[in-house]
Amino acid sequence: MEKLFQQSIKDLGSFYKFSEEDLNILEDVDKAAEELAVPEFEHYIKREVNPEIQKIGKKYGIFKIPVSKEYGGYGAAPIVAVLAKERMGQLGMGISSMYNVQTFICSLTLQHWGTEQQKEKYLKKAANGEIVLAFGLTEPEAGSDPESMKTTYEETKDGFTINGTKYLITNGSIADAMIIFAKSKEGKVTSFIIDTKSEGFSVAMHMSEKIGLFTSDTAMLQFDNLKVPKENIIGEIGKGMHVAYSSLVNGRMGVASACIGVIESSLNAVEERARERVQHGKPIGKHQLIQKHIAEIRQNLEMARWPVYFAALRKEDFDKDRENKALIKEMDFRSSLAKKIASRLAFESADHAVQVFGGFGYSLLSPVGKLFLDSRVARIYEGTDEIHELKIAANVLGDDFKAFG
Ligand SMILES: Cc1cc2nc3c(=O)[nH]c(=O)nc-3n(C[C@H](O)[C@H](O)[C@H](O)COP(=O)(O)OP(=O)(O)OC[C@H]3O[C@@H](n4cnc5c(N)ncnc54)[C@H](O)[C@@H]3O)c2cc1C
Repeated sequence: MEKLFQQSIKDLGSFYKFSEEDLNILEDVDKAAEELAVPEFEHYIKREVNPEIQKIGKKYGIFKIPVSKEYGGYGAAPIVAVLAKERMGQLGMGISSMYNVQTFICSLTLQHWGTEQQKEKYLKKAANGEIVLAFGLTEPEAGSDPESMKTTYEETKDGFTINGTKYLITNGSIADAMIIFAKSKEGKVTSFIIDTKSEGFSVAMHMSEKIGLFTSDTAMLQFDNLKVPKENIIGEIGKGMHVAYSSLVNGRMGVASACIGVIESSLNAVEERARERVQHGKPIGKHQLIQKHIAEIRQNLEMARWPVYFAALRKEDFDKDRENKALIKEMDFRSSLAKKIASRLAFESADHAVQVFGGFGYSLLSPVGKLFLDSRVARIYEGTDEIHELKIAANVLGDDFKAFG
């Protein structure tokens, strides 16, 4: 089992009692990550989406981890799910994006807000890795301000008709089903689950011209008179933004956890390089300025992981009492804080790693180059740095100082 991951389990184990089942789950996650590492890098080099995550993830049950046993999952605690995501994050944000959307965002949303019929039809299959899910909130003109969305729904005799465009959607062109958000004429936002084989659904563009994250599918989607039956509403009519915002709490926790993995991989890479690369007659690790880069990454790891772990431990209480307003507010804040800190530190760590690798670090062929390119997105998706800073400041100053919402 990878050394730093083992250390994380050990450190947390000094005050959290992992069960034998938890440890078995984490061992399987480690095996999945080991099996995925080579294909992930090969697909990155070819700049193509990595389909292995679904196959290998299914084989080792990684999509089941946070899903309750009732719906075919393992029902593991948030801290176990965070550790799983940390290990996957060591392979970079590409694999983590698919995993995050599938499990932390969509499955947990369906588990909390979905009807029994939706859970039977979508959640069980997603947990088992039989289907891929996506989450469509962002639009070309509605990103940080999703409530300004232009996608509309109209009620018909037997359901709804949806028209509009969703943009930058992870898993967008590989998903079997998708949680989406649309607005009525009266301005009420409602959430729906749609089947991507339905008439009126199309992939308008494969967004493959990203500056990194090549192994993750991103697409622009078009809905033209897409018919959705009544039973596909998630939550209540007009309460779609509650669904969206609660989904993003899980999504941010997932991104933040993956960022810990990025920092660990940066550290592993520089440690090896510092010992092996010789310049001026000695290993570069013996030059004190290189040691500074290593020390910075090591500090980043420590600064990134504890806010994430603490948020995960608090989430255990939150998951047991989802109506508790104080806990809702605390989780919103803690997940924002954890994501903001971890994503910045992941990108900074990958940047240090590129520097330690020198010219090879700047190559698309180097593992640290991949970490650098992939990790940049973590400061943008699941809420940008700026949006999280506004939320953190509002937590200090109080609701009267909220910049929006
Ligand atoms: C690779 C990738 C995958 C993605 N996957 C998904 C997905 O699966 N599903 C999905 O729904 N979305 C997804 N997104 C979209 C992502 O969530 C948005 O890009 C993000 O929320 C920012 O929106 P935007 O890009 O429209 O930027 P904008 O909202 O236009 O922001 C531009 C800049 O303005 C700043 N800004 C905006 N409002 C304020 C304010 N009030 N105060 C201060 N600064 C502000 C922002 O912080 C940013 O710096 C993905 C994005 C990427 C890049």
